[in-house]
Amino acid sequence: MSERAAPFYCPYCGDEDLRPNETGHGAWECAACNRAFQLKFLGLLTRGVRRDPNSDGGEEI
Ligand SMILES: [Zn+2]
Repeated sequence: MSERAAPFYCPYCGDEDLRPNETGHGAWECAACNRAFQLKFLGLLTRGVRRDPNSDGGEEI
């Protein structure tokens, strides 16, 4: 359950009245504007986790 990303607001109208869509897989529907949408995880950003440049030095990009 915790692996599922849940939106807090509708990206279209900003309402909070969201409920899971029956198609599942990150699909939600907004009761306020009657839109259905899907959340999709695209992957991690290539820049990765921000590092402290002063720790452990050496590598420069
Ligand atoms: Zn909406």
